[in-house]
Amino acid sequence: MSNTNSPAAGHLDLCYENDPDLLPVAEARRRIEAHTPRIVERELLPLGAALNRVLAEDVPAPFDVPGHTNSAVDGYALAGRDLPTDGETQLRVAGQAFAGKPYSGTLAAGQCVHIMTGAVMPESTDTVVMHEHVQLCSAGGDACIRIAAGHRAGQNVRAAGEDLQSGSLALARGTRLLPAELGLLASMGMARVPVIRKPKVAFFSTGDELRSCGEPLRSGDVYDSNRYTLHAMLERLNVEIEDLGVIRDQPQAVHEALVEAASRADLVLTTGGVSAGEADYVKRTLMELGQVGFWKIAIRPGRPLAFGRLGDSVFFGLPGNPVAVMVTFYQFVQGALAHMLGENNTRPLPLLEAPCVEPLRKKSGRTEYYRAILSRNAQGQLQVRPTGKTGSGLLHTMSDANCFIVLEENSTSLEPGAVVKVQPFFGLI
Ligand code: AMP
Ligand code: MG
Repeated sequence: MSNTNSPAAGHLDLCYENDPDLLPVAEARRRIEAHTPRIVERELLPLGAALNRVLAEDVPAPFDVPGHTNSAVDGYALAGRDLPTDGETQLRVAGQAFAGKPYSGTLAAGQCVHIMTGAVMPESTDTVVMHEHVQLCSAGGDACIRIAAGHRAGQNVRAAGEDLQSGSLALARGTRLLPAELGLLASMGMARVPVIRKPKVAFFSTGDELRSCGEPLRSGDVYDSNRYTLHAMLERLNVEIEDLGVIRDQPQAVHEALVEAASRADLVLTTGGVSAGEADYVKRTLMELGQVGFWKIAIRPGRPLAFGRLGDSVFFGLPGNPVAVMVTFYQFVQGALAHMLGENNTRPLPLLEAPCVEPLRKKSGRTEYYRAILSRNAQGQLQVRPTGKTGSGLLHTMSDANCFIVLEENSTSLEPGAVVKVQPFFGLI
């Protein structure tokens, strides 16, 4: 792809395999950002088609929202100075105001208006007393209300511009448009919205042992699960996906697939073939193609990772083990895609903290992602428990889990009850 805003060309600040140091997670993220260009192309979409896209421009409010000061409740609109300081007061009901049908008369002292939620406040009123807090009565055939002391002038009123002030920044460029943002844009009457075009992501799996679902397994074969997890994780991020299938462990096939993927996509993902085995042709091919570094990240699971540029595309060679694929995707690829889109809200979600009910084994010097279950104990307090086995091939542990326990680089083994950082898999989106 060539439609991206390339960072300065030149030497990539990558760490090669003979580097004895494991690369810390934060440093890997920094380098990924530094070498991931932003997409600059945009499209104008109808608001109804913009869910989960990223805003391409700052949007100032074109007028006050709400446009008029209005009532927050059903009740009686009056002038605050008519409220009693003690005892009771009686006011005559001069008329009614509905949302969409304002009261247009002028009020004399001692009068009020029966008002519904959302109706514009009548002239010379600034206070609403709720329906439930008045007594209906009549005086000389006129409808009246009686109000006791205890109310505050200005209560139950929504000021014009209280949600958005005319000219203020309603939404910043780089905001992901979720339901609240779409509603906010609609409240400003925007029928169309400028968004960054979707990133194109091409991916393939590598391995002679991989079979597609539906094919028979020979001895030693496994089904290609990574393609499905990758596809699903990408689909949730609302990117354009090119699934290039399974590529056999043959140098020519891997070479052709990589060149093809890079010509079509902003971001290329592969799984498998990046460690030091005899059949790890992804790694060998990338070394020929250049501009790709092989990192041993100080992380578990997911240690071997290739990252770099393939032509104008960004490339991630993820490990083969299914859990490692998911961990490296969430911890690195998702951030790269957010950076590509110029997204300004941080992903993944901020970490929670909860005591872990079991001991955790941990070596200092690497970040560990335990698959775990966040729940509440009998007292209603949050707690977290690892799902059990920790092998990076055990995909079942990801399905059992609803969060990662994140043990940062400098932490060591922990006793039961120690408070740990938790990254939930769930969230309101
Ligand atoms: P590799 O990194 O290619 O050596 O693969 C590491 C492990 O992950 C091996 O046990 C592979 O069989 C397994 N693996 C690699 N790719 C996939 C895949 N697409 N689906 C399921 N397992 C895989
Ligand atoms: Mg392999």
